[in-house]
Amino acid sequence: MNLTLHLTENCNMDCTYCIREKCPKDMTEDVLLAACDLAFSKGKRAGLCFFGGEPLLKKDLIYKALDYCEEKSKKTGIRFDCKMTTNGSLLDEEFLKRAVRSHMGIGISFDGKAQDICRIFAGGKPTSSVVEEKAKLLLSYMPEASALATIAPQAVPYYAESVKYLHGLGFKHLSFVIAYGKKVNWTDEALDELRLQLEETGRYIKELFIKGEKVFIGPIYSKISECIKDKNPAERCHLGVRQMPVTPDGSLYPCTSFIGDEYYLLGNVFEGLNEAKVTEIAKRASTPETCKDCPLVKRCTNSCGCANRMNTGDENKVSPLQCTYERMLIEVSDALGEELYQMDPAKFVKVFG
Ligand code: SF4
Ligand code: SF4
Repeated sequence: MNLTLHLTENCNMDCTYCIREKCPKDMTEDVLLAACDLAFSKGKRAGLCFFGGEPLLKKDLIYKALDYCEEKSKKTGIRFDCKMTTNGSLLDEEFLKRAVRSHMGIGISFDGKAQDICRIFAGGKPTSSVVEEKAKLLLSYMPEASALATIAPQAVPYYAESVKYLHGLGFKHLSFVIAYGKKVNWTDEALDELRLQLEETGRYIKELFIKGEKVFIGPIYSKISECIKDKNPAERCHLGVRQMPVTPDGSLYPCTSFIGDEYYLLGNVFEGLNEAKVTEIAKRASTPETCKDCPLVKRCTNSCGCANRMNTGDENKVSPLQCTYERMLIEVSDALGEELYQMDPAKFVKVFG
C-alpha cells in the first residue's frame, strides 16, 4: 500500500502559491510507526512518500521510518519503496548518503529561473542560490532526481528559460505544472504567454530530439507519449486507491486537497481503513458531465478529483482554467509530436514509445 506521510505542517519557505496552512503540527513517532505498519498490511509492496510542509524539517522521522521499514521488509519479504518531495534547502550529504542506501526517489521543487518570484524563505529572503547549490549536490548523489517546477502566472515568461536552465544543471527528468488555487490569478494575457512558452519549450524538445538526447520534460513529453501509447491520463485519479495521504495526527484521506474534510475521512493509522468508505469514495471519481462529449476526453486530466476540488469545490467538475490549459497543452504537444514523427518515425517511437 502507498502512503504519503505529511511529517509536518511546517515549512521554512513561504511560497506565494502555497496551498498549505502552515502550523506547528508534526507527526509523532507513534503515528509514524503505525503508518509504516499500515503500508505493509496490504499488497505485495509497501510504499512511503515523505511529504510536508517540508519533510526535511523532520529528518529524524525519515531515518526512523527507513530503518523500521527496511527491517520489516527483510522479515516479511514485502518490497519497500520510498520517495520524497522536498524544497531542497535542507538537503545535506549525510541525508543523501542514507537516501541513496534506501534507493529513495527524490523530487526537488525548483522553479528554475522563476524561483525567486514565488519561492521565498519564511522571512522573505530569496531561495534561488541556496536551492541551486543543493540541486547540484542532489544530482551528484542521484543523477536521476527530478526537478518539479510550479509556474504561477507572474512566472510564465520564465517557463522555457527555466526548462533549459534545469536541464543545463543536469536534470533529466523535469516536470512543470501550473499553479492552481485561490492565491493565483490567471489572466488571458498570462495564458497567451503560456502558449508561447510551451511552443518555445517544444522547440527545445525538438533540439534534444535531433541530438538524440532523451530528457523527460513534462507535461509535453507525457502528452505525446500517452497519445502514441493510447494511455488515458484521465484514468489516473483513483481517489485514495493508489496513494493515500496521512496527516500528522494519523488521519487518512483520499488525496491531499481533501485533508480536513470530515466527509472524506477514510480512517486512521491506528484503527485502519474504513474499506466501505474507500470503495464509496473511489466510485465517485468519474468523468465530469461537461467532458463526456469532448473529443479530448481521453487525452486530458479532467477527472483529477484533487485538482477539481481545489479549483471548483467539486471533485467531478473541471475549472475553465484547467480546460483551457489542457486544450493548449494537447494542441502544442500534438503539433510537436507530428513534426518529430515526420522527421524520423523510428527515433520518435524509440524516444516517446
Ligand atoms: S516549499 Fe512547499 S510547503 Fe513550503 S511554502 Fe513552498 S509550496 Fe508550501
Ligand atoms: S478539454 Fe475541457 S471539456 Fe475537454 S475533456 Fe478536457 S476539461 Fe473536459
